[in-house]
Amino acid sequence: MRAEIMAVGTELLLGDILNTNAQFLAQELANLGIEVYYQTVVGDNPQRLKDTIYHAFSRADLIITTGGLGPTEDDLTKETAAEYFGVDLVLDERALGRIQKFFDRIGRKMTDNNIKQAMVPATNGIVLYNDNGSAPGIIIEKDGKTIVMLPGPPKETIPMFLNQVKPYLAEKQEYTFISRILRVANVGESAMAAQVKDIMDAQTNPTIAPYAKDGEAILRITAKAKDEAEANAMIDPVAAKLKERLGDTVYAEGETDMQTVVAEMLIAKKLTIATAESCTGGLVASKLIEYPGVSEVLLEGCVTYSNEAKMRRLGVKAETLEQFGAVSEETAREMAEGIAKTSGADIGIATTGIAGPGGGSEEKPVGLVYMGLYYKGRTFVKKCNFAGKRQAIRERAAYTALDWLRKAMLNEE
Ligand code: ATP
Repeated sequence: MRAEIMAVGTELLLGDILNTNAQFLAQELANLGIEVYYQTVVGDNPQRLKDTIYHAFSRADLIITTGGLGPTEDDLTKETAAEYFGVDLVLDERALGRIQKFFDRIGRKMTDNNIKQAMVPATNGIVLYNDNGSAPGIIIEKDGKTIVMLPGPPKETIPMFLNQVKPYLAEKQEYTFISRILRVANVGESAMAAQVKDIMDAQTNPTIAPYAKDGEAILRITAKAKDEAEANAMIDPVAAKLKERLGDTVYAEGETDMQTVVAEMLIAKKLTIATAESCTGGLVASKLIEYPGVSEVLLEGCVTYSNEAKMRRLGVKAETLEQFGAVSEETAREMAEGIAKTSGADIGIATTGIAGPGGGSEEKPVGLVYMGLYYKGRTFVKKCNFAGKRQAIRERAAYTALDWLRKAMLNEE
């Protein structure tokens, strides 16, 4: 099945709102294995809307529209589609009753205009009752062409799609497409792809696709199968092969993130932690704190920005700062040891670096970050160079510090 996503609304054309419905639908259709070659946006203009529907049906079997199902005169999606299919619209008492109830619930008066929203195809139609708004969605099917019309507001579009349209479309699809993602830390997308190129090239079902998201490299393994169990059985050996190749850079599968993985490991291992941060300014602690329940292991986080604070709070020696500077291996080491000792934590993690834009030198450029890790009696130091602007450097540094800690816990023995 070949589909086209069509968003209707002048607001979208003017850039007043972002077409998030298209993003949502595109992802959902991809997961269903329905090919989408075009997405369009058209304003609330009857002729252009009509042209767009005709055009879309010349190259697709299925159109999914959002918007233009409202009560006003310029809401014309349903009327235009009915005209294309040559079907009449008739009043649906059940839809009208539900619209009336919806208005009672929100304490507003229904107007005569809303009756327009209860008009449904006399033939070839399916009504998608709306639990979150007034306009019902409508499906019209005829001669191998289908249009699915959904309301515009995402809080109506999304549940209507998930609860009513997705099962309807899945039923039509002979195969299901199931994806699993592997999250790869601190390896660029292209470097990761190069590492697994031969495995990727040899695979047709499941397929393997590399991409980058939120600064991470990701491998998506997608199987086409009769059902989910069969798909998972096909994905398992491929995932295992990729993990073996990429080693401990694969930090997780599925929908999670670095801080969740690290927090869960700390809790499982019953290891307490404290942070001493300079350039990351509390980001490492803040990321860990995103995980509910981290209080079991996170004792404290200090933002020790000045030399004075590094000495007073962490016990970094004046001579160390004088001789090697605040951004140095030696300072990072003393910071990590200092925070662990003074807090009594099993793990102390420290960052000190130059986030820019100023403050860099030839010897210590912007992006240079030293990290210290005190781990159950031993101390390690790591030197990193990050590219980008101040915020990107800080984010990257915090992420890398957490990933480093993850690897330390993983390879403890
Ligand atoms: P209603 O029944 O509320 O009138 P409708 O189906 O007529 O809905 P529109 O009037 O086109 O929908 O849009 C209503 C609101 O829904 C917009 O103001 C906007 O906030 C949101 N919306 C519409 N289309 C999109 C879209 N493609 N992506 C994200 N939001 C959208």
